[in-house]
Amino acid sequence: MKLNGCFDNLTENYLFAEVGKRTNEYIAAHPDKKIIKLGIGDVTLPLVPAVIEAMHGAVDEMASADTFRGYGPYEGYAFLRESIKKHYAELGVSVGVDEIFVSDGAKSDLGSILDLFDKDNTVVVTDPVYPVYVDTNTLAGRKVILASATEANGFLPMPDRSVKADIIYICSPNNPTGAAYSKAQLKEWVDYANAVGAVILYDAAYECFISDNSLARSIYSVEGAKSCAVEICSFSKTAGFTCTRCGYTVVPAAICGGKLNKMWYRRQATKFNGVSYVVQKGAAAVYTEQGMAQIRANIDRYRRNAQLIADCMDRLGIWYTGGKNSPYIWLKCPRGMGSWEFFDYILNNAQVVGTPGVGFGTNGEGFFRLTAFGSEEATKEAIARIERLLSE
Ligand SMILES: *Cc1c(COP(=O)(O)O)cnc(C)c1O
Repeated sequence: MKLNGCFDNLTENYLFAEVGKRTNEYIAAHPDKKIIKLGIGDVTLPLVPAVIEAMHGAVDEMASADTFRGYGPYEGYAFLRESIKKHYAELGVSVGVDEIFVSDGAKSDLGSILDLFDKDNTVVVTDPVYPVYVDTNTLAGRKVILASATEANGFLPMPDRSVKADIIYICSPNNPTGAAYSKAQLKEWVDYANAVGAVILYDAAYECFISDNSLARSIYSVEGAKSCAVEICSFSKTAGFTCTRCGYTVVPAAICGGKLNKMWYRRQATKFNGVSYVVQKGAAAVYTEQGMAQIRANIDRYRRNAQLIADCMDRLGIWYTGGKNSPYIWLKCPRGMGSWEFFDYILNNAQVVGTPGVGFGTNGEGFFRLTAFGSEEATKEAIARIERLLSE
């Protein structure tokens, strides 16, 4: 037996372990101080009543022989795929039910989709980046090229025509930077991908946070995307499914003459047995009138927090991306501080925990991520403390 040597090529990601370690050390030394965590990349509001009710109903169905379900379809139940198709139609996008595949979340699909591509493909990701894109390709032994996201390009790098990319990752609105591409910018990426024969893996996990109607909530609202882009979506941030687990991936029939869509079906049929009926019933309830109104209310609460943080940065004259169409605020550390220096500074002097940008890539040095997933009360208290400290 030989082990997969690619595991040795993974770079250890100490980011959240180190954040936890420094935070716990501070708490141990200052048990009287109240810490506020604005570092969390996870939702905090519970599942909405429409989802809970649908899931309870589905559990009851499983309790009776007449309505009990065994294995479901690999690609997801038709009722959920039809609802997703309708959701796309409301965004002005036409997607076929056969192009929609339900999954247990975006992270799994982001990893699994790589089964469809040859090892000898060149992968382009941004720096800073959501680490999953890099690590999944490293494990497969693929070459990864970094597209530099910086203050100068608003953390939205554009295609480099001197590079021949095969697999391109785009996350918009972005984690960690909160930056969102305009339709015109996405069009440039789509045109580039179509010109060089690349595939775009478009991570739309945060599409529901887009409030600016001129921005794309789906890559398919950009002309030409159907022939080059796979869209990966999730109920995690949209509807609080981070624990419950459900997402979906769109593999258009127009990519490689339908071959990629067929390959994805075959891949899922081989290695995946679908998402539980109970969870899919819960996910479908998100698209009911009631469900939509309820998740909108939750998203609006996170949005208000993001706005509060963004307003605070504006008052302090701190440069940032995100906040408007994203639950993340990616700020430039004031007074020329490095990411970890600023982490320690606000932990020690304001008892606020955030995430050092350098943990997401070299270009993140000197930047810092705050998230809007805390409660309104905690968010208000945290920004009041930061504002007091930085106005000194
Ligand atoms: C949270 C998040 C996801 C969602 O992942 P799930 O596996 O569906 O929970 C996907 N992409 C990014 C960039 C994220 O931050």
